[in-house]
Amino acid sequence: MDYDVIVVGGGNAAFAAAVSTKENGAQRVLVLEKAPREKRGGNTHFSGAVFRFIYDDVSQLDRFVPAAEKDYPGFHKGVQPYPVEVFREDLMRVTQGRSDPELAALLIGNSYDTMCWLQDTGKHHFELAVSVMGVKVGNEVKWPRGAMIRTVHEGVGLSQTWFETAEKMGIEIRYETGAQRLAQAGSGRVTGVVARGPDGFATFSAKAVVLACGGFETNPEWRLRYLGAPWDHAKVRGSNFNYGDGLRMALDIGAMPWGHWSGCHATPINAEAHDYGVQNLTDKTNRLSYFLGVMLNVEGRRWVDEGADINSFTYARYGGLILKQTRSLVYQVFDSKVLHLLEPRYSTSEPLKADTLEGLVKQLQVDQTQALKTLKEYNNAAGRGGPFNPAVLDRLHTEGIEPKKSNWALKLDTPPYVAYPVTGGITFTFGGLKVTRDAQVVATDWKPIPGLYTCGEMVGGLFHYNYPLGTGLMSGAVFGRIAGRSAARA
Ligand SMILES: Cc1cc2nc3c(=O)[nH]c(=O)nc-3n(C[C@H](O)[C@H](O)[C@H](O)COP(=O)(O)OP(=O)(O)OC[C@H]3O[C@@H](n4cnc5c(N)ncnc54)[C@H](O)[C@@H]3O)c2cc1C
Repeated sequence: MDYDVIVVGGGNAAFAAAVSTKENGAQRVLVLEKAPREKRGGNTHFSGAVFRFIYDDVSQLDRFVPAAEKDYPGFHKGVQPYPVEVFREDLMRVTQGRSDPELAALLIGNSYDTMCWLQDTGKHHFELAVSVMGVKVGNEVKWPRGAMIRTVHEGVGLSQTWFETAEKMGIEIRYETGAQRLAQAGSGRVTGVVARGPDGFATFSAKAVVLACGGFETNPEWRLRYLGAPWDHAKVRGSNFNYGDGLRMALDIGAMPWGHWSGCHATPINAEAHDYGVQNLTDKTNRLSYFLGVMLNVEGRRWVDEGADINSFTYARYGGLILKQTRSLVYQVFDSKVLHLLEPRYSTSEPLKADTLEGLVKQLQVDQTQALKTLKEYNNAAGRGGPFNPAVLDRLHTEGIEPKKSNWALKLDTPPYVAYPVTGGITFTFGGLKVTRDAQVVATDWKPIPGLYTCGEMVGGLFHYNYPLGTGLMSGAVFGRIAGRSAARA
């Protein structure tokens, strides 16, 4: 079975690579998807499908969301430009300056052009991500810059469109076929993959292989090995097929590990969520409105600044902090002043409710005496500065308590009060492989491995400690497109 290019994986990065490969002249292209058809699409299927990308002028968004001004009057005036420098600053700030500068420049510099390519060549349709990114202030919706556009029908639509586009281009897709190891010539060139499909093992030969089969977030043994306890117990937000197979296969032939192998993306999710992502619930277990209230741990204490920054710059780190609390359980507490501002995803579970803080605390599995004391101390300290404005860092803060709350520190004083039990769910891992500017995998002798490319979650070095919302899919699309082009030329 001879191909020009084999792409391993069935998510956003894989299809960006496969489609780009075809576009750049490869004839016989094969996609191997380990999952069965009904579970295809990896984390991409579960995603909110928000993309972060640069634009110097808001009119550059018109091609993606032509009705924005009509649907949200004032849109053009309200959205700030998101130039290269601001994306770079955001990425560097949240990664504590550790993002690989060469990869970061490629990601950011190619982001707008790749969005246009997703639309023109990938055939994706876009819309404003109003439910998760739009912030209602009075009768107006305010938009954060950079990350506000998603594909129609979110990750489900993104994944479905990729499969359709690939099929129309004549790309062959084999389901339930998991790559197990890479085949190599005596020269060291990668010549194909050995995979296990419904009929057993088979060797697929190709002039180039693109690995796009995700990180190791589904694998409890690797999570313990690289992230440490209690990550082996974490709930998985997305696919239950990303066991680090591609990373293992590449490391086995001498690829260089790169980036933050003890780091990952994890978010606050419903404590009652399933152990793995549920295909039709997708990302609806997320609980990201914590900045509007306070979070109490089992000891009855606040333990983090809930309002340190806009939540799209804190949510990917706070999941891990929550997981490390006793019993990996915290409660998000709100009063009725902000309930209309909670993101709609909160409607997928029923909160605990009471007309007094005392009554609420009695229902929580926490040190109740301490919890009530914490809430009273918080109320005494809250409400300094402001005024309250959920669309910006409003500096409505606490004074005299630790940890402080830096923004949106409204007092909890308007019944009914509600509490949502929350845990930390892992999204994807940051550790990956070193790649060249052409997305070619580099070996531990610092030389590129002939015939081997990678993209998506398998690229190491971009994300450390934290992550700006909407960057995973953008990275998958940018490096997938580059990997496909390079593989076709190989
Ligand atoms: C709930 C949730 C919400 C998210 N929301 C957003 C968002 O709004 N914006 C954003 O930018 N990012 C978001 N992300 C992150 C984003 O989804 C991922 O970064 C992105 O989808 C990764 O793409 P990928 O192609 O690298 O991996 P995946 O999409 O996970 O694809 C990996 C593929 O490889 C397959 N595979 C695994 N092992 C093998 C093997 N041995 N052989 C063959 N195939 C194999 C899997 O079945 C899967 O098809 C979210 C993630 C989750 C889970």
